[in-house]
Amino acid sequence: MTAAEGGAAPAIMGDPGAAGRFGEFGGRFVPESLVPACMELEAAFRAAWADPAFRDELSSTLASYGGRPTPVTECPRLSAELGVRVLLKREDLAHTGSHKINNVVGQALLARRMGKTRLVAETGAGQHGVATATAAARYGMACVVYMGEVDTARQALNVFRMELLGAEVRPVTSGSRTLKDAVNEALRDWVATVEDTHYCLGSVMGPHPYPWIVRELQRVVGDEAREQCRVLLGGADPDVVVACVGGGSNAAGTFAGFADATTSALVGVEAAGGAAMANGIPGVLHGMRSNLMQDEAGQILEAESISAGLDYPGIGPEHAHLAAVGRARYETATDAEVLDAFQLLSRTEGIIPALESAHALAWVVRAARAGDDMVRPGATVLITLSGRGDKDVAQVRELLA
Ligand SMILES: *Cc1c(COP(=O)(O)O)cnc(C)c1O
Repeated sequence: MTAAEGGAAPAIMGDPGAAGRFGEFGGRFVPESLVPACMELEAAFRAAWADPAFRDELSSTLASYGGRPTPVTECPRLSAELGVRVLLKREDLAHTGSHKINNVVGQALLARRMGKTRLVAETGAGQHGVATATAAARYGMACVVYMGEVDTARQALNVFRMELLGAEVRPVTSGSRTLKDAVNEALRDWVATVEDTHYCLGSVMGPHPYPWIVRELQRVVGDEAREQCRVLLGGADPDVVVACVGGGSNAAGTFAGFADATTSALVGVEAAGGAAMANGIPGVLHGMRSNLMQDEAGQILEAESISAGLDYPGIGPEHAHLAAVGRARYETATDAEVLDAFQLLSRTEGIIPALESAHALAWVVRAARAGDDMVRPGATVLITLSGRGDKDVAQVRELLA
């Protein structure tokens, strides 16, 4: 029911409807051959998400296998250094070391419910590939991960991890041989194999229903965090909620817990070298309309940052919408700021963050020191720590040498 029909005002982060639109963004821009697969998936997800038995199995799996709920941690030493109260939502403590487990376990359970026995996935840096291979192993499903040939060379250890978990890694040799080509290959595989295969997409992007499914599966991050903050803050909500943005799934899941329920300011932080909100313009890629980094001829530009996990040339369509309606704001952090934040959190709190997550922290550090209106002295700031930094330690060591 819409507001015009006499219902409550539509939720800001609600159901995007059959067309999968978030304002002027989102949608399902796919070849005719992919439409039935998308429709089947949407119907299956709607039914599963409304089924308490599915929700129970997902939560109990995320508890006993995934390590949920993850805690919210007070950061007294970092807070003293910045003059604001910093709380961290600790997705670094989830199984496989990031929030990605929430999405892949949910999609694997959905695939199984749909009678599918095989998962395909795209991966850039390898983290979503490893997560999908993990879920496939857990449920005894076949798993093929498409990875740009350039990335397979850069991320050889993650290729080995996926193989250890029983997945097959297929190097993609088309185009720029990176993440955006891997997405295209995974979509191609899915069209040809949809009978027995589910495409386990890694972020809040792609054609409808993916941006919505992945946001709902990551909503657990924001829902938990809000409850935990209310306990810590005597029933109050944080002034500011901050998360890093690659495709935007950890941010979307975090924001979903706050966008409609609170007046907390929401801030997404992109890598300065891959800032689809700061430098992108609306266009269509991978089945969705969103903000994309492109040149004047509409050619998609390669994103580049210190953190391979943020190197997606676009952003999930719901983020473009949240920015357009003013509910969230998007900022950037430079590689140098990220390296400083990475060391600062390690030194002050004994937590080594993923380089991706260090972007969120880097913006908070800059904003607090610059006296940004949103991060005034004494403000309460919740940061989603999307993952742990073990995977990045060797790279940071080289960069600091
Ligand atoms: C994959 C990843 C990201 C980026 O993905 P989003 O969809 O933007 O959340 C961020 N942090 C970590 C630790 C990741 O593994």
